[in-house]
Amino acid sequence: MSNAAYDHDATVHHAAATAFVWTRRDDGAGPELYGIEGHCPACHCPMAVSWPVGQYAVAKGGLLGRRAKPVTDRPWYTSCRCRSAHHGRPPGEDGGCGAGIYVPLPANGLPE
Ligand SMILES: [Zn+2]
Ligand SMILES: [Zn+2]
Repeated sequence: MSNAAYDHDATVHHAAATAFVWTRRDDGAGPELYGIEGHCPACHCPMAVSWPVGQYAVAKGGLLGRRAKPVTDRPWYTSCRCRSAHHGRPPGEDGGCGAGIYVPLPANGLPE
């Protein structure tokens, strides 16, 4: 059974271009990571998401494998990953308010 409050397709938000800061991080200990940090446009909590460089953003559904070409002309889709307590969060969800978010890719491309 679906939980309407946690149906990402029903609660999709388009983040403003300035809502998230894009970073590329290499701490030398693990894989290089892309990251976004900002505030969820739905619940306004701070949230951050990161993923390994080499996996590319797709318009919907997360990440593609290494053979995929980067998609830079469409926003990157994620679900809210805030750490706040939100009423109605299903036990299987480890965070977020349930919103799906399209995050515009940086105008100058992904950070290098
Ligand atoms: Zn949220
Ligand atoms: Zn939240």
